[in-house]
Amino acid sequence: MADLRELYQQVILDHNRSPRNYKRLPDASHTAEGTNPLCGDEITVYVLLEDDVIKDVGFQGSGCAISQASASLMTSAVKGRGTDEAEQLFRAFHDMVTAGPDAPADSKALGKLAALAGVRQFPARVKCANLPWHTLHAALTGVHEPVSTE
Ligand code: ZN
Repeated sequence: MADLRELYQQVILDHNRSPRNYKRLPDASHTAEGTNPLCGDEITVYVLLEDDVIKDVGFQGSGCAISQASASLMTSAVKGRGTDEAEQLFRAFHDMVTAGPDAPADSKALGKLAALAGVRQFPARVKCANLPWHTLHAALTGVHEPVSTE
């Protein structure tokens, strides 16, 4: 088993310590809540959508370093993008964290999100990393029940 410390790279530590877009959007057009009962992660994602473009995005919640860093990286990555681009990133991210341990991360498409590639060696952590994305997806598709990774 790989050393857990390898997972907590600089990027993840940085985003956990000072999360980007950690805010409630009072004028959000779309919101959703998500939970990962396995780990105790909770998140609310706020999106301000205008003409299918994510004008602004924020999140609030509590949980482990992976879920918080993933939410921070995700909001940074999707801000200013079209909803179709955001969904493409979601798929690329999901493929990355569920791929075999030796599969190369598509860092060109994923950018900084590739920092989370290491979670695929820790199956329990994959849900932590995916939670913000599932919650964003729920917000964009108008799901009103809280999403759960279980
Ligand atoms: Zn977690």
